[in-house]
Amino acid sequence: MNKFEQLGLNESLLKAILDLGFENPSEVQEKAIPLLLEKDTDMVALAQTGTGKTAAFGFPLIQKIDADNRNTQALVLSPTRELCLQITNELKNYSKYEKGINVVAVYGGASITEQAREIKRGAQIIVATPGRMQDMINRGLVNIKNIDYCVLDEADEMLNMGFYEDIVSILSDTPDEKSTWLFSATMPQEVARIAKQFMSEPVEITVGTKNSGSATVSHEFYLVNARDRYEALKRIADANPDIFSVVFCRTKRDTQAVAEKLIEDGYSAAALHGDLSQAQRDGVMKSFRGRQIQMLVATDVAARGIDVDNVTHVVNYQLPDEIETYNHRSGRTGRAGRLGTSIVIVTKSELRKISSIERIIKQKFEEKAIPSGIEICEIQLLHLATKIKDTEVDHEIDNYLPAINNVLEDLSKEELIKKMVSVEFNRFIAYYKKNRDLSTQSGERRERNDSEPREFNNNGAVRYFVNIGSRDNFDWMTLKDYLKETLDLGRDDVFKVDVKEGFSFFNTDPEHTDKVMEVLNNVQLEGRRINVEISKNDGGGRRDHNNRGGGRSSGPRREGSFAPRREGSGGGFRSDRNSAPRRESSGGGFRSERNSAPKEGGFRRSEGSSDRAPRRSESFGDSPRPRRPRRD
Ligand code: ADP
Ligand code: MG
Repeated sequence: MNKFEQLGLNESLLKAILDLGFENPSEVQEKAIPLLLEKDTDMVALAQTGTGKTAAFGFPLIQKIDADNRNTQALVLSPTRELCLQITNELKNYSKYEKGINVVAVYGGASITEQAREIKRGAQIIVATPGRMQDMINRGLVNIKNIDYCVLDEADEMLNMGFYEDIVSILSDTPDEKSTWLFSATMPQEVARIAKQFMSEPVEITVGTKNSGSATVSHEFYLVNARDRYEALKRIADANPDIFSVVFCRTKRDTQAVAEKLIEDGYSAAALHGDLSQAQRDGVMKSFRGRQIQMLVATDVAARGIDVDNVTHVVNYQLPDEIETYNHRSGRTGRAGRLGTSIVIVTKSELRKISSIERIIKQKFEEKAIPSGIEICEIQLLHLATKIKDTEVDHEIDNYLPAINNVLEDLSKEELIKKMVSVEFNRFIAYYKKNRDLSTQSGERRERNDSEPREFNNNGAVRYFVNIGSRDNFDWMTLKDYLKETLDLGRDDVFKVDVKEGFSFFNTDPEHTDKVMEVLNNVQLEGRRINVEISKNDGGGRRDHNNRGGGRSSGPRREGSFAPRREGSGGGFRSDRNSAPRRESSGGGFRSERNSAPKEGGFRRSEGSSDRAPRRSESFGDSPRPRRPRRD
């Protein structure tokens, strides 16, 4: 008898659990399941992410539902559409041997009539986001007046997202006699308030912070100057060629900007945030699950609770506002007993936050130095060697071998190896020779770098001084975006953005000067008045398309080398149709970005959608491009 049987679960669930491959219940499951099965009770369960809460309520829920009755008997509320779909999917898995149970997902952004139709067909369990649920109630498309169970999953997050009123209103539409099960990672006041208001004598269970997730996650931080954040992120990725990661930014804007930069620099990355359409988000998640995306750049809300196995790294590109959120982030890795690393890119002024987090997670951070260029070359070369060793040979190649042998026949094995590996090595070494070590960069040197663009000609652009800077959590990318948004300017209208600690400089064309002065001098940033002046130092000059922001070179780039460039990596993540060849082209971790014509005006929009046609034409520029196998 395994431990799940001891919890009192029935045959069909045990069979489904066998299929899921769960061997032993997690702590929260062990505590919650027997209690919930035994009697109808309210419950408050506090457990970190990754502890198996879905099954903790899902198993008993499936067992308690009357499959012969088509009426809606249970409502599960969850904060985001992704989670909603994830839970629905899980519940369907749990109930696959239980005939007649229907689970329907209800969430915004999809057709409400279709969802209403599904409910009408008989949905014993509805899994919903609060907003859409409220909408359906208002339109009389759903009846939850007779439900027996209501689950509030990730209650703290739902309240964080401002769903308090929706939740209250939805709950008041349900009968008093039902059982309410509240699951949350933390217990802020608002959650306690909901519990007090809507639950009667709930049993409380808490599982220790040492959950399966956190025990398998190690925590590291890298100390950098604020303006080196992005460069640090790239090096972390380069030093981990097999990285499969979620990169967290604080705002949608940063999320988009960082993802775009990564894509532009040849990484397989995509953004996930609330401004994307539903189809775009679906596409991103599908590609991420399918491993076509190595770096998913996400906001906290969008990535909350997302359960993708094998995430190797969580990167805190910026720390969250609320340090409690750190737990949710790091819970995206080290799941289901696997090892994971949670990395924080941190500036000096944020260092004390690391200690606060250490207190919360009851684990120590390890301080790491950003890998040097040489270290990265070493890692990449070994990775390449291993890849060559492990590559399976497709015998289509045999046809070409005589010709290839002809070219290479005079080389000894040693020479051949040296040359093959140098194809990649030369490129990397060339890039990193030019690029300083981030950890040893002195302030003085940076001053000089900053002033470099000012030596360029000045074609009449206006340079401004503004009293916000890195102290206000801006870096050049975010400040540029902030200015463009606040001033309602186009994407190339703000340029040469230099962020200092307490102030920054930026340029616009003269035609925007009135607007800049008028608008910016009348806005407030977190209660502080922004002050902008025309800088006496008019350096910086006209835009220079090659110089995005800080004038830093963007990465080791490939010059017509042998590996085909990943399709679509220039303008968005790859679409699923191209999944087959991915390992060959990107597995080496060598970015196959061509050093081709400068991209017009900085960022290219990430389409964030899998239905985007892959960019074929620009992939190879002038070098002949091998035809790639396609799957579709
Ligand atoms: P939470 O909601 O607490 O964040 P989830 O319910 O999403 O956690 O579960 C996290 C991961 O752990 C999922 O991949 C799930 O399939 C897996 N899991 C849950 N329970 C078990 C178990 N008893 N044994 C093994 N894996 C489990
Ligand atoms: Mg969950």
